[in-house]
Amino acid sequence: MKKHRSQRPDEYRQLIQEFTRSLTLIVDEEQLRSSISAKLRDFFGLERVAIFLREGDGAPFRIVAERGMDPEIVRNVTFPSNGRLARWLKVNEEPLLLDENPGVVAFLDAQERDTLTRLDAFACFPLVALNQLKGFLTLGRSDTGAPQLDQGDRELLSLFSGQAALAFENAALLREQRSRLKRLYRAERLATAGEMAAGAAHEIRNPLTSIRSAIQHLRTDYDDESPRAELIDDILAEVDRINGIVGALLSFARPAEPRFESVPLAELVRMAIALVDAQAQTQGIAVSAEIAEDISVEADPNLIKQVVLNVVMNAMQAMPNGGELTISALPLAGFAELRMGDSGPGIPSEDRERLFDPFFTTKKEGTGLGLSVCYGIVQRHGGEIEVESETGQGTVVRIRLPRSTAP
Ligand code: ADP
Ligand code: MG
Repeated sequence: MKKHRSQRPDEYRQLIQEFTRSLTLIVDEEQLRSSISAKLRDFFGLERVAIFLREGDGAPFRIVAERGMDPEIVRNVTFPSNGRLARWLKVNEEPLLLDENPGVVAFLDAQERDTLTRLDAFACFPLVALNQLKGFLTLGRSDTGAPQLDQGDRELLSLFSGQAALAFENAALLREQRSRLKRLYRAERLATAGEMAAGAAHEIRNPLTSIRSAIQHLRTDYDDESPRAELIDDILAEVDRINGIVGALLSFARPAEPRFESVPLAELVRMAIALVDAQAQTQGIAVSAEIAEDISVEADPNLIKQVVLNVVMNAMQAMPNGGELTISALPLAGFAELRMGDSGPGIPSEDRERLFDPFFTTKKEGTGLGLSVCYGIVQRHGGEIEVESETGQGTVVRIRLPRSTAP
């Protein structure tokens, strides 16, 4: 422990208060994390710390920032969202000092105890904001053992954790607000595109139907071996391709009225995967789908199957030389979130804004309608679809659908 703290507590307190004030000014989550872990060292001499946060209500707590920890241990360390540690911190809203509370430690789940041991933790400080446990800090022993925290230190650390929790909450709210605005803007733009697309599609569809039947009639004049028959077959195939595009365009702009029913998400995903399983194997793609059977959504199974299929096809097309396709689901308040992630090349930022635009494609043979159709269908379900991607880091598509209340 640094000497100057006990000698000049007022000055020290002031320093922390200053920092605490500045915390709420940091709205970038990444910066917040590194700043907090750095200050834990600077202010309290803590060399090994980890910040655990969770993404959603049911999601486990994961390390979002750490300092001085063994990277081998840090990887994949989680605490269950409703585990005993989380519940104890939530109820008590005070730090858990492990050495002083053997009773509490004994009460924890064996796995939690094991994880704390691996983290070499001597204390956990809850991150509570708006009455909710957002996460916690774990403080690890340094090479010289556990630092001594006197009452003053603990109070300062508690103050610090409280402010950190608020700052995280702030940053998350801001992020949510930004993405809501973005969605609003996108919805507006796509609605306009949809209107135009629907108008054009209708105009094209009727003459196309006449053209098709006229050509088909001409086709009867030739027998199958004639070179003209081949030519006409080519024309027919192209006409059918246009028809397919027009159909897709219409299902983006005016998606079919869904026939809602309560469907288990896992089953929908299984059905969609079954259709591409063989192709995935030839391409060397490992598909893993882990979805709790009790998550059901209020949806039209055929339409959502199509959405899943479109997304999965994109993922597979992004991994021509193999990779991983990971599908999971998360129950949220009123919604279920389906996540489909691939280990492909990711999407450059200049493309990310245009993914849902009809006809936006980067593929030679692409139509650029796959995600537009997904968007139309998900909207019709009162849901949301988002694509998260960085160049070189794969792509995750998240789809939120209303959860069904029926058993
Ligand atoms: P298409 O597949 O016909 O190109 P989509 O609407 O399905 O049309 O996708 C639009 C574009 O979005 C694709 O051309 C591709 O550039 C990009 N994209 C979609 N999904 C992925 C993914 N999983 N990985 C990388 N790029 C993707
Ligand atoms: Mg596609």
